Amino acid sequence: MSFEPNPALQTLSRRMAGVGRRALDFILPPVCLRCHTLVSDPQSLCGTCWADLKFLAEPLCACCGLPFPHALGEGVKCAACLRSPPVFDKARAALAYDDTSRDLILPLKHADRLEAAHIFGRWMANAAAELIAESDTLMPVPLHWRRLAARRYNQAAVLSFAIAKQRPHLRIDTASLQRPKASVSQGEMPSARARLKNVARAFSVSEVRRNQVQGRRILLVDDVLTTGATLNACAKALKRAGAAAVSAVTLARVVRPLSSSL
Ligand SMILES: [Zn+2]
Ligand SMILES: [Zn+2]
Repeated sequence: MSFEPNPALQTLSRRMAGVGRRALDFILPPVCLRCHTLVSDPQSLCGTCWADLKFLAEPLCACCGLPFPHALGEGVKCAACLRSPPVFDKARAALAYDDTSRDLILPLKHADRLEAAHIFGRWMANAAAELIAESDTLMPVPLHWRRLAARRYNQAAVLSFAIAKQRPHLRIDTASLQRPKASVSQGEMPSARARLKNVARAFSVSEVRRNQVQGRRILLVDDVLTTGATLNACAKALKRAGAAAVSAVTLARVVRPLSSSL
């Protein structure tokens, strides 16, 4: 038996959804994702916070996405990428990591405020449009199982699903890249050298998942790019397992040259 949707019922259902939304707005009026002042649309920012966000755009280093003060020509790389090329092929970020973007990212990491991921996914999909066109698989940077158990979710996986909503042709693989070694949080490392050492052998691809990685064009997903050490360690494990290409997109990046290869 086939089911034909009733247009009158569909209209009623849409109206009820509208009423529900207005009722919810009355009880829980939408607030700015950063400063919590009232705004007209849910999951948005007030004008002041919006103006404070620094979206990264061309001219950028063709490899790591570091913003240049002025255009230097197509395909130009920054001095750090020329001196010691990262293991990943390319990286892009939606925002500069500063006080404003940190206020948006920390709740995503520690306070279960996942409702903002939808808008972050849109920003990341736009920032990495060129990389997404060259990729077939989204792969979140994994958490060690103990940290995952404590936090209950991996913010990089949440961002990956938000990007996939914007670009449904991408498959998400949350199983192939593993983090068997419980490294200390990168934020607690005193220097770039310490960060590099901390994650150097933290990631791996198990034998049974190798065929899921071989020949794949992978786009790694994480919240922040700081020195590039974590993304390089992931890319090394994936390329060793036979990935054809490994690039990365993050919600934000520290705006200074990468120093992972110290
Ligand atoms: Zn605000
Ligand atoms: Zn660069």
